[in-house]
Amino acid sequence: MLRLYNSLTRSKKIFSPIHKGVVNMYSCGPTVYDHVHIGNLRSFIVDDLLQRVLRNVEKYKVNWVMNITDIDDKMISQIDKDYHDKEPMQALGELADKYTDIFIADIETVGIRRSDITKLPRATDHIDQMQALIKKLLLEKIAYISDGSIYFSLENYQKSGKKYGQLVNVDYDAQARLTDDQDQKEGASDFVLWKAKKAGEPYWEFEWLDSQYPGRPGWHIECSAMSTEYLGQPFDIHTGGVDLKFPHHENEIAQCGGLQANFYIHNEFLQTEGEKMSKSLGNITTLSAMPEPLAFRFAVLQAHYRSQMDFGAQILQSATDRLHTLSSYADQMLFAWKDQLPEKDDSSMTKKFIDQFNLAITDDLNTPAALSAFSHIEGKVYSHETLKALEYVESILGVGLLSAKPLSSEEKALISDYDKSRAHKQYMESDNIREKLKVDHKLQISDTQHGPLVNRIR
Ligand SMILES: [Zn+2]
Repeated sequence: MLRLYNSLTRSKKIFSPIHKGVVNMYSCGPTVYDHVHIGNLRSFIVDDLLQRVLRNVEKYKVNWVMNITDIDDKMISQIDKDYHDKEPMQALGELADKYTDIFIADIETVGIRRSDITKLPRATDHIDQMQALIKKLLLEKIAYISDGSIYFSLENYQKSGKKYGQLVNVDYDAQARLTDDQDQKEGASDFVLWKAKKAGEPYWEFEWLDSQYPGRPGWHIECSAMSTEYLGQPFDIHTGGVDLKFPHHENEIAQCGGLQANFYIHNEFLQTEGEKMSKSLGNITTLSAMPEPLAFRFAVLQAHYRSQMDFGAQILQSATDRLHTLSSYADQMLFAWKDQLPEKDDSSMTKKFIDQFNLAITDDLNTPAALSAFSHIEGKVYSHETLKALEYVESILGVGLLSAKPLSSEEKALISDYDKSRAHKQYMESDNIREKLKVDHKLQISDTQHGPLVNRIR
């Protein structure tokens, strides 16, 4: 039974999907104008963890949709900088192509499989759906036109009996400050649905009541339109970083008429040396600077997703060390020869391990407690049952625990020779083989009650 902290109710709730056996989940994706920074990667890793738990623990089919924002202020200022010699629409496409490919490559290195994301829709491929939604809001008089732009009227929305502020207690002043000074809004907290065309910017035609309003969509409308297009309304789970709660998700809900999704899951920030990790602060650590991206994923899992995560070189190093230790333990079972290990774990520690892991991971994705379950088995218990348990746990963690390069036939022969020489008490010979395995093959051999067990040296 999976319990998740739902930002809508501000409490942990038992999760059950709207349609039996299927979970429809939407995650706010990247703006593809630059490399994704590791603060955002934390958010995507948490999304991935959640969809893995839904699939592999709860056994649901998961439709996971993540949008690609390929039109907004950041995209436009980037094409002004890097593609000023190109026609704006073409420049936008090229920039989006480039950084979408880089994004997919980056998330794959931290264990997020592209194949697990059911749809990765681009905003600019869904202008029709956004315009249809805006027209619906215009008809309902919840949207209005001012100076060529179209805005969402909070006053009219609330007058229609709908609640704004489902995820947060709204700070209207803060929202008013967030918007552009040039906006021609009627209410300070109104937000833009469609921005009037500016010279030199990419734009789309928009016809309403025989008038033309060329321009581009606001950011919030894309997620309302695309989540509805692919997952219906309401759908099961909406995820994102805690900074998206307000105004982005609050506005998405309002644009959807007050009911968009049943669960909103928000993950906390990643901080470096106590500072919020964001581009505006300039303290970006890039994924390319990390020798083992999966160790970053492991570091992310060592923190609970609703806690702020401190990140720095030392934290990455300790996560790397821990992951290496666990991987070495996994190697020892993975590399054991046929019949070397017992089928069952008679100590019942493997069962304890799985039980504690499941209990923790289904309690609002409590990864720190789930990871501590390894203490029941690590370095102590070796069996086929235990190896199967590791395979299961790896299907949820996705940290590459069982991805060591298989033993070559030469390595296998050396290990076999080692075992024979030990059996014949030829210790000089066995020591020589041990040394050769270590130096030439980066393999460590350990003598155990099950005979020699081997792991790759990391
Ligand atoms: Zn969104």
